[in-house]
Amino acid sequence: MESTLKKWFGYSAFRPYQKEIIKEVLKGIDCLVVMATGSGKSLCYQIPPLLTGKTAVVISPLLSLMQDQVMSLKQRGIKAEYLGSTQKDSTAQSNAESGQFHILYMTPEKACSLPSKFWTNLLEVGVCLFAVDEAHCISDWGHDFRKEYKQLDKLRGFLLNVPFIGLTATATQKVRMDIIRSLNMNDPYIAIGSFDRENLFYGVKPLGRCLSFVDELIGEISKYVASAGSTIIYCSTVKDAEQIFQSLLDAGIKAGIYHGQMGGTAREKSHRMFIRDELHVMVATVAFGMGIDKPNVRCVIHYGCPKSLEFYYQESGRCGRDGLPSICWLYYTRSDFAKADFYCGEAPTVNQRKAIMESLMSAQRYCMLATCRRKCLLEYFGEKITFTNCGSCDNCTNSKKERDMSREALLLLSCIQSCGGRWGLNMPIDILRGSRSKKIVDNHFDKLSLHGIGREYSSNWWKALGDQLMTSGYLKERHCDKYRTISVSPIGMNFLHTSTSEYQPPLVLPITSEMVD
Ligand code: ADP
Ligand code: ZN
Repeated sequence: MESTLKKWFGYSAFRPYQKEIIKEVLKGIDCLVVMATGSGKSLCYQIPPLLTGKTAVVISPLLSLMQDQVMSLKQRGIKAEYLGSTQKDSTAQSNAESGQFHILYMTPEKACSLPSKFWTNLLEVGVCLFAVDEAHCISDWGHDFRKEYKQLDKLRGFLLNVPFIGLTATATQKVRMDIIRSLNMNDPYIAIGSFDRENLFYGVKPLGRCLSFVDELIGEISKYVASAGSTIIYCSTVKDAEQIFQSLLDAGIKAGIYHGQMGGTAREKSHRMFIRDELHVMVATVAFGMGIDKPNVRCVIHYGCPKSLEFYYQESGRCGRDGLPSICWLYYTRSDFAKADFYCGEAPTVNQRKAIMESLMSAQRYCMLATCRRKCLLEYFGEKITFTNCGSCDNCTNSKKERDMSREALLLLSCIQSCGGRWGLNMPIDILRGSRSKKIVDNHFDKLSLHGIGREYSSNWWKALGDQLMTSGYLKERHCDKYRTISVSPIGMNFLHTSTSEYQPPLVLPITSEMVD
């Protein structure tokens, strides 16, 4: 195995799990491979055909991804080809059928539309494995569900005794189980690598706090331009992307743009220029996705909270592929968290809608966090973390400031209690800040002794306190219909009842970035 690795790829040692996975595949055992981007998953299906002389069939979601892979394999002298659903060329198909290739890539649509004769012919000359790359696309719990992936299980019927390998860089427990079930995997070997990207720094900033996002952006980007590093800016909407793109051009920055509403040629051109370092910055939507394998991206900036932590992990993970220190900044506004309805509109199944809500909540938690961001991300992907300070995220590197917030907590909890638990956070906060809106007057909330008592803090300050009281269990949240209502939990009630006692310890909470003046 080592000599094959050296001969074709020029590497002298396997990385963690590669050898174990290859050995299992050679024994004919199904495998589920969950490893971080850049950890070397492809080698797990590229080595077996070179050892056995039989074809490896690889399912991949995107033509551009397959083209890149095929090109780089051909440069190494490996016989590789791809069959796309749009490809008319039947020569490639008949060559494939007669076992001319070590590695044969195809889209799931193509795989499902090939006649059974194709598979019987190929089996006769030999198939060493059937790999499904980006296997999380098979699960509607995942962040990139593609229905064509769901039909891949029917190929099991043709490919009896061929080991199936599912590979992905992001999979929560639910998605992992879904992949195993959907591909009818039989007692698979499961390899789960660490998701920790040690060279990445993680940080979050509330947008309201920067004077001008674009000015801040330009400052950040300029740091990397000097060292020949590039930056990706992810925006939630095409409109945002266009605006930021224009502002960067106006500031004389070599920026490109990439989103789903652009034509194929324009997108390819933009991508190519970015890869060749003719552009320093790419402003993009999520459409700028899989297969971006550029080593020197030094910084990924998110303008707006992403839909889920899976998305965030994948997108932010596009920096620092060369292992050098790189930075991931996320800028959010609170209105980002109210988009669940909007996202749910696209989701046909109940599972999907539930998944969308849960995903957005976890991304929101990440933004609001006062503790280690890396720990939060890794635990989300099911890793057991023993450290509390990673030394490389904003929360771990800030000299942490905390203070006694008992008085403010008491005000907020009392006010929520006075409103009768029928409202979200905005109503009690407006009361504390002395608003005389119609809703407040109609409900006689302006008569409360608490009315106007909390004017000294901004509404975002109070919201940040509300989030912390939620996280520490003093408040509880209920979803009814599309609305969230907030009420005081038993722990919070206990705090209210004992708060005047001298035995009550102070409620010390971190001062988050939204609480800094
Ligand atoms: P993934 O599919 O997990 O994102 P890739 O398979 O694209 O990762 O591998 C990332 C990079 O690491 C590639 O450039 C690959 O050639 C390289 N690589 C893979 N395995 C090894 C190895 N054993 N030694 C050195 N480099 C490797
Ligand atoms: Zn940390």
